[in-house]
Amino acid sequence: MSAPSPGTESSPAGVLRVAVDCPLRRLLDYLPPAGQRAADLPRGARVRVPFGPRSAVGVIVAHAQGSALAGGRLRAVTALLDREPLLDAALLELLQWTASYYHHPPGEVIAAAIPAALRAGQSALAEEEWLEITAAGVGASLAGGPQRAPRQRELLMMLASLPAGIRLAQLDALPPGARPAARAIAKRGWARLTVRAADAATAAAAPAATARGTALSTPPEPSAAQSLAVAAIDAAAGHYGAFLLQGAPGSGKTEVYLRAVARCLERGASALVLVPEIGLTPQLLERFRARLPVRMAVLHSALSDGERLAAWREARSGRARVVIGTRSAVFAPIPGLGLITVDEEHDSSYKQQEGGCRYSARDVAVRRAQQAAVPVVLGSATPALESLHNARLGRYRLLPLPRRADQAAAPHLALIDLRAHAVHQGLAGPVTQAIGRHLAADGQVLVYLNRRGYAPTLLCTSCGWIAPCSECDARLTVHREAAQLRCHWCGATAPLPTRCGRCGFAVKPVGQGTERIAETLAAMFPDAPLLRLDRDTARGAAEIEAVMNALLDGSARILVGTQMVTKGHHFPGVSLVAVINADQGLFSTDFRAAERLAQTIVQVAGRAGRGARAGEVMIQTEYPEHPLLQGLINGGYEAFAAGALEERATARWPPFSRLALLRASARSAADALGFLRAARACAGDRPPVRLLGPVSAVMARRAGRHHAQLLLEHAGRGELQRFLDAWLERVEGLPEARRVRWALDVDPLDIQ
Ligand SMILES: [Zn+2]
Ligand SMILES: [Zn+2]
Repeated sequence: MSAPSPGTESSPAGVLRVAVDCPLRRLLDYLPPAGQRAADLPRGARVRVPFGPRSAVGVIVAHAQGSALAGGRLRAVTALLDREPLLDAALLELLQWTASYYHHPPGEVIAAAIPAALRAGQSALAEEEWLEITAAGVGASLAGGPQRAPRQRELLMMLASLPAGIRLAQLDALPPGARPAARAIAKRGWARLTVRAADAATAAAAPAATARGTALSTPPEPSAAQSLAVAAIDAAAGHYGAFLLQGAPGSGKTEVYLRAVARCLERGASALVLVPEIGLTPQLLERFRARLPVRMAVLHSALSDGERLAAWREARSGRARVVIGTRSAVFAPIPGLGLITVDEEHDSSYKQQEGGCRYSARDVAVRRAQQAAVPVVLGSATPALESLHNARLGRYRLLPLPRRADQAAAPHLALIDLRAHAVHQGLAGPVTQAIGRHLAADGQVLVYLNRRGYAPTLLCTSCGWIAPCSECDARLTVHREAAQLRCHWCGATAPLPTRCGRCGFAVKPVGQGTERIAETLAAMFPDAPLLRLDRDTARGAAEIEAVMNALLDGSARILVGTQMVTKGHHFPGVSLVAVINADQGLFSTDFRAAERLAQTIVQVAGRAGRGARAGEVMIQTEYPEHPLLQGLINGGYEAFAAGALEERATARWPPFSRLALLRASARSAADALGFLRAARACAGDRPPVRLLGPVSAVMARRAGRHHAQLLLEHAGRGELQRFLDAWLERVEGLPEARRVRWALDVDPLDIQ
């Protein structure tokens, strides 16, 4: 409880400082309900409060004795919604830290961490839907169940062994198809749905191993390096320690996570497992479920509101002992947290890049581990340069995971000079020949190109017209299968023209996208079944999984894809990887582009040669002498990273400095740049930080708005933070701020 500061008026019953979901960068003060004292309402509990002309649900963050608002103007809380705190003290502190570090309104940060139904004021105590067997169902199970519907039969048999029934949410832990099977047997009158209050007693009635209906699998024998890594993490139990687990693709990082989590569970603690957006596959979940004999809560962006609420309650109640999820799961409530793991810690999906609070889940995870005094494991084959730097400084302990003895040798990387060979439809002669050779030898081929669509440009061969987006500074991409032109920046679409929009002459697609490379390869190798994987062919996890399975079972021999093919999946049959264009990352204005390119090449190369034979990787480039590519070819990611860190140190880029980016957009360039110039002026004549800009973004006009930015830099994190605190208050008050949309991005990943 803080003493009233000068200018505040004290209130006998005390004051509640409440986070309300609104764009204000501060907490709001309220009086307790009549006849109550503020101290009786717990921090972390939700309250209903008057907010302007309406009412809102907020969370009590702090108690105070007084308020800067005069007593007569303070309004009172209208209702307390939770007798017990919804958010415990540790989580509340983490959310406050996040709001403060990323300079985002605390009410919005806290609201984003709570499921929608709870934000609307619904009870935090769960009512749950249960499925239980009926007398008719018992009869049917004794008769052997429906013979032609195996999933229904399995579910019916399971229900027959669980007279208390099974929570509907638990069906998601079963192999796919359990929910439709449940609906089917309910329709047959063999089971009924009931609603019960959730409590620990009913949870205990259905032990996890039974509910899963699968036996636990036997773990593989760990390598010496895996055992050492697990022992090191385990020895840190009960206090903070950050580990950087660096292992080549296929070296068994997941096995280390599994074993470390198992040890944590044995101790009675719970674990938080973070994975990148695209890494949360049914395969991975199945592997965790098959190894860990506890309930798990799964949190990711594709959940419905109801599913998110159920998973969140499972986590908060402590019934789920492992919480596995993508970015926002870092804010999941986990009583008794004992370990955090962050898989593919370099992955950009950990950073919220658009809308809301632009936090890094990896960095918040490290902070959470510090605060909870538990170990945190960051794993990657290609760690972010920031993480490698932290390991060099001794802040993180490096746990190297070399290739396993039973693994194939490292893939052989070769640069293919696009200037020195005949190139047909984007494919150099040696690459086409290698594809033929590998297919003939029964191998599979992975072709990587980070550009979806048929061709990036539609060109008039007579007048030089190029199909532009009317709303962006972008060219429209040709999508031939959909017979459309599409803007990859704003999503605008138009029918695919056959004639020039200016002179009426014939137009032709120029350049290569995945669709066109796939078409070319299908014509060259008509006998090899080919699949394509990009955001046009696969939108959800199930579609991605289907493509992956076709490659795994050999029904596809060639896979052409974007970034999606580079992550997490094991393809033991792939013997050749072709990188169609490495040059996009070599000459970017973004200082991180080279790092991303190196990570992509190493990750995609890691898909090859996981079976018995070493893989071959061919990288097409017009700049084979480029030092980045040479370093990568000759010394691997370590050599690249060492060189790149030296360059960053010279140029004073992160991790040798700290950045914040103030972005603004407006209908006119003048408004966007005018606001940023005024913001720069707020820093004074001799600002303690370096300010760069304002400048227009590289792709300045997007969706009809002009985008511009102002970059702030300082060697010290604390100094930059202190400057931002004072500066943002002035920026917020600028009259120009009302004419633009603006947002601050602390530790930005993308600075173009
Ligand atoms: Zn023309
Ligand atoms: Zn556009």
